[in-house]
Amino acid sequence: MTTDYEIIIVGGGPAGLTAGIYAARARRKTVLLEKHGTGGQMALTWEVENYPGIEKISGYDLGQIMERQARSFGLEIRSLEVTGVASSGGVHRLSTTEGELSCRALIIASGSRYNHLGAPGESELMGRGVSYCATCDGAFYQGVPVAVVGGGDTALEEAMFLTRYASRVFLVHRRSEFRGTRLLQERIAAEPKIEPVLDAVVERIEGKDGVTGLEVKNLKSGVVSRLAVEGAFIFVGTTPNTEFLRGFLALDAKGFIETTPNLETTIPGVFAAGDVRSKVLRQISTAVGEGALAATMADHHLSH
Ligand code: NAP
Repeated sequence: MTTDYEIIIVGGGPAGLTAGIYAARARRKTVLLEKHGTGGQMALTWEVENYPGIEKISGYDLGQIMERQARSFGLEIRSLEVTGVASSGGVHRLSTTEGELSCRALIIASGSRYNHLGAPGESELMGRGVSYCATCDGAFYQGVPVAVVGGGDTALEEAMFLTRYASRVFLVHRRSEFRGTRLLQERIAAEPKIEPVLDAVVERIEGKDGVTGLEVKNLKSGVVSRLAVEGAFIFVGTTPNTEFLRGFLALDAKGFIETTPNLETTIPGVFAAGDVRSKVLRQISTAVGEGALAATMADHHLSH
């Protein structure tokens, strides 16, 4: 039976775009489906400095280069959202916002998105002082104090970035140690504008038309205090974009896709790459390696 495409790639971050480069070079009829712009979470990163071979580049620019490179080999990119997948007889059918699409090999590289904190005031003040993207919103906080919540690489990097604009950056973390890379921890410690607020959780984000402060509770002493800030940047981990796959293939307890070392999922002919996979390290460098492997495995699957 003929299908619309040989390979469909879901997601246009570094894993999906790399899979696109490899699939197009393997001369497979391939489409990459992306609901927002290409680049994924990478495109929201102000500066990437740990992608080997490029000393410094903005995440947005790196995504643009990857997209241009993929298109130059003939990759088709369509802007639409995938809402469901079903497989039978070796054919995968995707329900999308523009109708059904079919393929024989499917690569899922749909990535993950930033978590919300769930604190009172957060959803009410979203876009009015509460932000999940320092690159997008940092410049609005010129000369005023802000808070960053979280202790992973994203929180540490974004706190450093915000020192360009903000007068002071409170870095609120629930434990006494940051989770992020040592090098970033050293930079945080050496940056006079950053004030770590450790062993602390946000009880409430205050404000009406904009953020006016953060109520934080010290978990060791139980003391509740107030940080007078005009912005609250939340970086407390990510959730995989796998809602459209529920019931279709095996996910781990947090919803990330389980794969073999060759990136096979529990459905033959369906592969997963990048941040959407269940794994320990989520980097641009790991995403591109997995994109290349997933496309190669998809090519083998079509040949055999
Ligand atoms: P992450 O590593 O999962 O860190 C999330 C942070 O948020 C942790 O410090 C966690 O605290 C805290 N947290 C989670 N839920 C919370 C809650 N309800 N209240 C308060 N704090 C909460 O997430 P990430 O920093 O976004 O990074 C995601 C992945 O991307 C990681 O693999 C990271 O290494 C990678 N990344 C890499 C780079 C880079 O290499 N330059 C940059 C950005 C991201 P605990 O520590 O107590 O769990």
